[in-house]
Amino acid sequence: MSQEEKILVTKSSMPDLEEFIEEIRSIWDSRWLTNRGEKYQRLENELKDYLKVPEITLFSNGHMALELVIEAMGLTGEVITTPFTFASTTNAILRNGLTPVFCDIDPVTYTIDVNKIEELITDKTSAIIPVHVYGTICDVDRIQEIADKYGLKVIYDAAHAFGIEYNGCGIGTFGDASIFSFHATKVYNTIEGGAVTCKDKSIIEKLNLLKNFGIKNEVEVTEVGPNAKMNEFQAAMGLLNLKHVDGEIKKRSMVVAKYRELLGVVDGITLPVIQDNVKFNSAYFPIVVDPEKFGASRDDIYNHLHNYSIFSRKYFYPLTSSFEYFDGAHDNDDLPVATDISLKVLTLPLFADLTMEQVERICSHIIELKSK
Ligand SMILES: *Cc1c(COP(=O)(O)O)cnc(C)c1O
Repeated sequence: MSQEEKILVTKSSMPDLEEFIEEIRSIWDSRWLTNRGEKYQRLENELKDYLKVPEITLFSNGHMALELVIEAMGLTGEVITTPFTFASTTNAILRNGLTPVFCDIDPVTYTIDVNKIEELITDKTSAIIPVHVYGTICDVDRIQEIADKYGLKVIYDAAHAFGIEYNGCGIGTFGDASIFSFHATKVYNTIEGGAVTCKDKSIIEKLNLLKNFGIKNEVEVTEVGPNAKMNEFQAAMGLLNLKHVDGEIKKRSMVVAKYRELLGVVDGITLPVIQDNVKFNSAYFPIVVDPEKFGASRDDIYNHLHNYSIFSRKYFYPLTSSFEYFDGAHDNDDLPVATDISLKVLTLPLFADLTMEQVERICSHIIELKSK
């Protein structure tokens, strides 16, 4: 074990402590801690502008945003989705009593393969739930064409896509709705938090009811809702982090550029795709390792870095379709690309304060494995 300091895969962005104390001071005067407080309302307005979306509503976390927008949209039967994602996407579908139908992914973007969606549509299909993985966006144009042709809803899991724009439009404007996560480990955080963006005001109104037990007024409860509200401390963190997020993304993009410079020349390592007309957020840096060409596997790199106290992540591995609760119901042979990528992908440390020296150290430990 080396003497060098630990490098974790991510490190949460935070404002200065003094700045935070100043921001939360007013909460002690108002004693208004949650339920659409002043900070919540301010954050909702600021995020609507920042994300360039027509409507937004905030949640305690991204997962509840997804669970509840699925419910609000009234989906039924089967939902076509990707297995190459975080547990949340698949769990939200299942917890709504729906059946996830897993579609393979595109070998370049790792997002849902639009050429394989149509063959999975049945008379029970009600929606498509794709994921903008690592901030690489889905083929939103083609997905909308398919949805229109078959009368399906589209809900994007945009948990990784904060601040991304496509052709100058906020990524949250595509499909019928999108969900964002503001978890501590994401590009932008409200400690924990999340949002639904959509065009349809009636969906937003339904979500505002759902996230507060379905309470319409003092005497009427109209929905069987849980509690999924964002509180004032989360909103305070969000207001301050929003001031700094552009600077944080800029610093992240320098880290990404350094990784590209050092790893782009290495045979057997594929870097994430750069997409045209997309304003990227530098959320993640996933590399895909071809063990034959590189001479060592993804797991070898993971373990080797670990020995130097550098913590990468096998993100996303395993596929959600092979989670234990499915009891082997889904065949990996039907998902050849997703299976292959999940065995070869490694997400490298990436956060705003990662230094160029640390990136060089990470890359040299990767490259030294190749020459062993
Ligand atoms: C983080 C994440 C979520 C869930 O968000 P939380 O805010 O942690 O509840 C959903 N989907 C994806 C792809 C994520 O990465």
